[in-house]
Amino acid sequence: MKTYNYGKQHIDLSDILAVIGVLKSPFLTCGPKVKEFERAICNYTGAKYCVAVNSATSGLHVAMLALGIKEGDEVITSPMTFLASANCARYCGAAVKFADIEEKTANIDPNEIEKKITPKTKAIIPVHFAGQSCDMEKIYEIAKKHNLKVVEDAAHAIGSEYKGKKVGCCEFSDMAVFSFHPVKTITTGEGGAVVTNNFELYQKLLAYRSHGMHKDGEMQNTWEYEMRELGYNYRMTDIQAALGISQLKKLEKFKKRRREIVEYYNKNLGLAHLEEMEYSNACFHLYPVMVRNRAEFYQKAKKEGLNLQVHYIPVHTQPYYREQGYNWGDFPNAEIYYKKCISLPLYPDLTNKDLDEIVKRIKNFA
Ligand SMILES: *Cc1c(COP(=O)(O)O)cnc(C)c1O
Repeated sequence: MKTYNYGKQHIDLSDILAVIGVLKSPFLTCGPKVKEFERAICNYTGAKYCVAVNSATSGLHVAMLALGIKEGDEVITSPMTFLASANCARYCGAAVKFADIEEKTANIDPNEIEKKITPKTKAIIPVHFAGQSCDMEKIYEIAKKHNLKVVEDAAHAIGSEYKGKKVGCCEFSDMAVFSFHPVKTITTGEGGAVVTNNFELYQKLLAYRSHGMHKDGEMQNTWEYEMRELGYNYRMTDIQAALGISQLKKLEKFKKRRREIVEYYNKNLGLAHLEEMEYSNACFHLYPVMVRNRAEFYQKAKKEGLNLQVHYIPVHTQPYYREQGYNWGDFPNAEIYYKKCISLPLYPDLTNKDLDEIVKRIKNFA
């Protein structure tokens, strides 16, 4: 029996040849491919600056550092996300404040954000859940009113649009962070990127990516550098960047197929699913459905050769965040969503025959 996972990368010959090209070149890292990938992401999203990094987690961390987030600060994010959206604030010693989600989209609710703002709040990290953009204009308005920074966790959302513009153009944010992990829409193996329109933030991101080293200013010799802050090695390799360039060329095709699959499931499954809002044109990363008995659905799907996944266990219920004072019951919408959600197979290599087969198997038990 053919088995199906909830997600799967698409790698073809052009990707393989792109990687081989770098392996045969003088630069495996710190070469021309990283810059070329960064330029390609700028061209695609419309952002002015891009800094490629070795994961979205690193990207979120350097974004927090670039904003100067520190102990005593508070950062607001969604409880319905992957751990990294919250952990990046903790890396800098800041407290994480969660704001509950909207039922229809599972995205952070702007009204809940406003309730969580205190004099200590410095930044908001909206997460574009399943690939659908949050209502960024609304969130940005709240941020401006309270003098807060906005970093989009766009790990799910490369290729998505909000009000006719690409996620990552940063019209309604200070920075956006993409992930290129293999389960995401395009991949570099591990990898991520931060985009921004702000030159000062761009300079800081570059420095934090590479040990806090600077090569500008008074220096006389090309070998000189100055370490001005404590940075990291979060660099992407040219091998990864070459794969990213090749993948990015296919993104619009991936998006078209992902949207077709979502439409097919919406029409043919008859299961409760998220709604796409009028401001969104999503490159869907996940297709979650809401089912009455999730544990049973998961087991029965497994018997039918469908390896599904739950996105996500609410972050505030993790032991680490419970130690920070959170508990079950704190964010009811996220918790209700979690108890019912399960993500079905969604990736561009699924054929129409695969889709018929998947729907048939689900209808055997659901
Ligand atoms: C995958 C993911 C991340 C982390 O991405 P990595 O590239 O694996 O570090 C962060 N936020 C969200 C919402 C994600 O889904």
